[in-house]
Amino acid sequence: MPIVEDSKAGHLLKLVRLQAVTRKGAKKAAQGENPLVDKTAPGLLDQILQSQGTDPLCTRLKKELCTSQNGHLSQKGHVNQGASREGYTLNQQGLLCYKGRAVVPAQKALIQELLYLYHDDQFAGHWGINKTKELLERKFYWPGMDVDIREYITTCSVCQNIAIPRHKPYGKLEPLPVPLGPWQEVSLDFITQLPKSYIGTAEYDAILVVVDRYTKMAKFIPTTTNIAAPEFAALFHENIELKYSSLKGIVSDQDTRITSKFWAKVYTYSLIKQRLSTTFHL
Ligand SMILES: [Zn+2]
Repeated sequence: MPIVEDSKAGHLLKLVRLQAVTRKGAKKAAQGENPLVDKTAPGLLDQILQSQGTDPLCTRLKKELCTSQNGHLSQKGHVNQGASREGYTLNQQGLLCYKGRAVVPAQKALIQELLYLYHDDQFAGHWGINKTKELLERKFYWPGMDVDIREYITTCSVCQNIAIPRHKPYGKLEPLPVPLGPWQEVSLDFITQLPKSYIGTAEYDAILVVVDRYTKMAKFIPTTTNIAAPEFAALFHENIELKYSSLKGIVSDQDTRITSKFWAKVYTYSLIKQRLSTTFHL
């Protein structure tokens, strides 16, 4: 007999009343269940079988299966039921299956536990929707499982916070070498987007700050924000390298001008050692 609900509220109330499996019970039942193992944990199968016995949909389908000739339901014979019953079978233990997969009754705790096991647990690695779905579908079925899986994963707090790094791995944080004398090791900073100022007719809006790491003496070299890597390299060469030929290493931040292109140019002028700080230790 199909259950006819008077209203949505009535339907929800019924669902709440029917939630016989507690979170704790579901957890206990699912002990030993492993998404990567083909066999379903016995305790979990027992719980599913037991809960199927009180589930309106499962009991209805079971009844229909028992009265059918061959234990298989075909859509043809049940046109009047409205919904397809095809694919449902009873196994030897009396477990209702859909296309060979255990039908999980509408017990929220059980479904939550399965989603947890197949997405968050130690054997699951916060897989994406497709992978989680594929693994769950090897053994289980419940109406609306696609929606449940999608909703569970899109609201998973761990998945929300995982940003897949798209940059090269960070270098090791090694202490910088201690300079042994003045103007051997310098640090570079490029301060840009400053208000315009002029020297003669030349316009400047950026400063290249070069600090000697031994004496802490700083050199401020006027330049422009839009300076290209080759000019920047030339500027550095003229103002620092030619004046302090003892230069051995440089530490700089991550301004793109002071990264690869710049160094490629600097190398054409000199043999100073590249020693980029933190994110650009190479
Ligand atoms: Zn996740």
